[in-house]
Amino acid sequence: MLIQVAMTTRRRFLRVGLAGSAAAVLARSFAQERSAPLAPISSGTGPVIISTWDHGLPASVKALEVLGAGGSVLDAVEQGVMLVESDMSNRSVGLGGLPDRDGHVTLDACIQDHDCHAGSVAFLEHFEHPISIARAVMERTPHVMLVGEGAAQWALANGFNKRLVDIPEVTERWKQWLRTSDYTPGVNSENAPAGRGDALDHDTIGMLALDAEGRMAGSCTTSGLAFKVHGRVGDSPIIGAGLFVDGEVGGACATGTGELVMRTAGSHTVVELMRQGIGPQEACRQAVDRILRKHPGLVGQQVGFLALRKDGACGGHAIYNGFTYAHITADLQQMVDASYVRKWE
Ligand code: ASP
Repeated sequence: MLIQVAMTTRRRFLRVGLAGSAAAVLARSFAQERSAPLAPISSGTGPVIISTWDHGLPASVKALEVLGAGGSVLDAVEQGVMLVESDMSNRSVGLGGLPDRDGHVTLDACIQDHDCHAGSVAFLEHFEHPISIARAVMERTPHVMLVGEGAAQWALANGFNKRLVDIPEVTERWKQWLRTSDYTPGVNSENAPAGRGDALDHDTIGMLALDAEGRMAGSCTTSGLAFKVHGRVGDSPIIGAGLFVDGEVGGACATGTGELVMRTAGSHTVVELMRQGIGPQEACRQAVDRILRKHPGLVGQQVGFLALRKDGACGGHAIYNGFTYAHITADLQQMVDASYVRKWE
């Protein structure tokens, strides 16, 4: 098995001021690719924001703007990922996501604060911002998780409105899938390396943030695996699987085939490894390694972890190449190619 020792193979690297819209920042970041040495941030103070995949860059910039405007770190991780939830061209997060095999777009999301308070929704249909409902569950109920019709009823009763969207391209892709009904989650999707566009779409946004006072929070939101069985819930809304934050230590989030992450309580594993003194990059690597050990013969399925330690040090690691993440501080905005175990040609 090839172990990719270079921690970062390529970075889209950018230093900019805080002015400018997220979209402008994103455009410039892709225009200004260049290499940079890996230097874990360990200033002891935030803000530091990391977030999965290319859509993590505008989301993280938004989160930084929220902090800059005086918002809390919880506001930042909520509003950061809301940007992606509202993007109807995104096929793996929010109402623009691909449906399950019965044609339903079902959404999963969770949020967690510095002190381990958490909220979560799963198997939710027709709401634009599941992350905000998850936050409301955390703040306004004695519970952590609401699902399905009960979650929808609670959301309606608590000020959230349904939004019905009809995206012909999504319907067409579902009908196309029905012709073969071939279900094989692949390595990455719209983020797949060139030539690997055949994978089923999946690409959750997970975000971890540390503010200037050292407070942490995390969020995670997704439409889950495309063409999943109706009723399937992945790792993303499961505290400890798709996301785990304990401000005493740090936070972690996951993306990829949720079943692999859930079986190993992936994000919790990463945080507990950090609690033992292992660095964030190595903690992600060990969590990936555990998945591979528990699934001998596993081929063609991706999992990526991100970790942010309370001192601002961060890292990411995946089973396969192609997993990218945004890394934002007060004066640094960059996309990072995570290290990985195997190369998907
Ligand atoms: N982890 C998500 C799920 O299994 C999908 C993804 O991150 O790509 O639902």
